[in-house]
Amino acid sequence: MNSTAVALVCALLGLPVGSFLNVVIWRIPRKESVVRPPSHCPGCDQPIAPIDNIPVVSWLLLRGKCRRCATRISYRYPLIEASTAGAFALVGARFGESIVVIPLLVLTAALIALCAIDIEHLLLPNRIVYPTGFMVLPLFALSAAVDNQWNSLGRAALGGVIAFSVFYAIWFAAPKAMGFGDVRLSLILGFGAAYFGWSTLGYALFLPFLLGSVGGIAIAAPIVLVPMTFGGVLGYLNGVAVMRSYQGVEPTNATQARLAVATVFAVMLGSLVYLLLAAAKRVERGRHIPFGPYLAAGAMTAIFL
Ligand SMILES: [Zn+2]
Repeated sequence: MNSTAVALVCALLGLPVGSFLNVVIWRIPRKESVVRPPSHCPGCDQPIAPIDNIPVVSWLLLRGKCRRCATRISYRYPLIEASTAGAFALVGARFGESIVVIPLLVLTAALIALCAIDIEHLLLPNRIVYPTGFMVLPLFALSAAVDNQWNSLGRAALGGVIAFSVFYAIWFAAPKAMGFGDVRLSLILGFGAAYFGWSTLGYALFLPFLLGSVGGIAIAAPIVLVPMTFGGVLGYLNGVAVMRSYQGVEPTNATQARLAVATVFAVMLGSLVYLLLAAAKRVERGRHIPFGPYLAAGAMTAIFL
C-alpha cells in the first residue's frame, strides 16, 4: 500500500475513534463508565439512533441539533471526530510503512482525549494515562520485535526514565507550573520520542516549554503575537544573511539558518513587547494554564521531525 492509501485508511479509522474519544472526554472527568449507558441526547435523554451517530456527517445533516427535541449539540463533537481523522491521516502518511504506526495511532488518540480534558478541567486523568501506558509501551516493544529494532527499544526505555526524571525535578521545584499528570505522561512521551532517536527525545523535552511560553504569552497578552509573527517572518526572510554576517561563512543548511534566526527574532521581539506591556501593567498574570497540550504537541512535533 502506498502512503496515500495508508493515510486514507487511517483517516477513515479516525472517525469512529474520534466518536469514542468524545464519549471519553465527556465521561471520564465526570467519573462515568465509557461503555454504559449508550450515547443519549442531553436534552431529551433519548438514546441516539445509529443513523444519527455517524461521525461528522450526522451532525452536519442535523445542523447540530437533536432530531427529537432540537437541543443544540456542541460543535466540539464533529470537531474532535474530524481532528482525530486528520491526525490519524498525518501519522499514517508519515509512519504507515512501519508497524510502529500502531503504537503511534494509539498514542495520538489518547493525546487528543487528554488535551481536550486538560483544557477544560486542568486534569490528566489516571484513568486515561495508565491504560495509555499499558497499551503503548508493549505495542512499541512489539514493533521493535517485528522490525528487529531492539536498540530503539532500549533507548526508548532509557528515554522514558530520563523524561520522567526531568519532569519530576521541574514539578518538585515548581509544583504550580504543572500537575503530576504531566509528569506521568512525560514517561510515555519520552519513551515514544526516544524510540526514534536521542535528538527526538531532546526536542520532545525542549519543545513543550518553547510552545508553553509562546502559548502562555499568547493567552496573557494576545497582542504580543503580532510582534512575534513579525519577528519570525523578518528572521526567516533574512536568516541566511544574518547567519553569514554572524559566522563569517555561508551557512551549510539554509532552511535551518532561516528557522533558527526566525525563532530568535520572534522570541526577542515578542519578549520586548511583552516586557513593555508588563511594565505598563497591561498583562494578566498568574492564570493557571494546562500544560498537557504543550507536552503532547511538543512530543508529537519532535516525533514527526
Ligand atoms: Zn434530544
